[in-house]
Amino acid sequence: MQPMDSRTQARGGVITQADPDRVTVRTRLPAGVLTLDQLRGIGEIAERYGADQVHLTTRQTIELPHLDPDRIEEIARDLEANGTPLGAERHEVVNIVACPGTDRCKYANVETIGLARALDERFFGKDLPVKVRISIAGCPNGCNNALLNEIGIIGRIRPVRTPGLCTGCGTCVHYCREQAVTIRNGACVLDENRCDLCGMCIQSCPYSLIRAEDRHYLILIGGRSGRHPTIGRELIRVDTPEKVIGVVERVIYWVYRKSRANRLLGEQLDEMDVDRLRADLEKEFGSGPAQAP
Ligand code: SF4
Ligand code: SF4
Ligand code: SF4
Repeated sequence: MQPMDSRTQARGGVITQADPDRVTVRTRLPAGVLTLDQLRGIGEIAERYGADQVHLTTRQTIELPHLDPDRIEEIARDLEANGTPLGAERHEVVNIVACPGTDRCKYANVETIGLARALDERFFGKDLPVKVRISIAGCPNGCNNALLNEIGIIGRIRPVRTPGLCTGCGTCVHYCREQAVTIRNGACVLDENRCDLCGMCIQSCPYSLIRAEDRHYLILIGGRSGRHPTIGRELIRVDTPEKVIGVVERVIYWVYRKSRANRLLGEQLDEMDVDRLRADLEKEFGSGPAQAP
């Protein structure tokens, strides 16, 4: 077996298999979106190197299984030329996941795919003491489990009722999945403690009496799936994608400096003084702690 180029070996896109003579190659596909040419290209590369199938992963990447480890350098070059380079799975920032967001989903509060690409460009593959998974959801429905990632980003919006004009028809009550709206004395009343800022009631009102305000991104830290799934802690909310990128940059630097290897990020947040990080972010990004209105 030929030795792999050290840069290739150091990246997590090459995964050993149960069969020691074969490897799986993972690709880098932010938000799991690729062009039709890239899709065809992956099929051609898989065929060229003897794979008779590909595998779609939970992190929205494509893997090429059962490849010859002696040909990794050629495979990596071909994948790079296809615009779908080697991926990551070690202690680094791995493939960034996003739901369709405003590109397609009628429930979305924020754009997600462009944000995933921008984060990928800045942070993908960054070497860290721990693995960092990032997931972006366009609304609190969280179809892609943003709550269970080391960094979760969720688009939210605040529904504001127009006083005096509500007919009490109950449509927004029907659409609210949090039982946050009730009809009292012929008009709807919002329980702010139950509202998760999903915004689903806004478009439901047949008289357009619910305004959308305070569109923002809630950023959570330290979530994990696996053996002991844990929901991430609320870190901060910010109102622009540029601020999301700024917060993620600070968080990744903080993880680089303060986390310890061989443990999940979510297990060491208190030792790393996450409250201090939150306070520093609030000073810099000026948005206050993430809370319901
Ligand atoms: S998380 Fe929300 S915006 Fe994203 S796909 Fe699901 S429902 Fe749509
Ligand atoms: S924004 Fe709040 S009130 Fe409206 S549907 Fe969502 S949870 Fe219910
Ligand atoms: S849907 Fe509109 S009119 Fe009907 S109860 Fe809700 S806010 Fe009032």
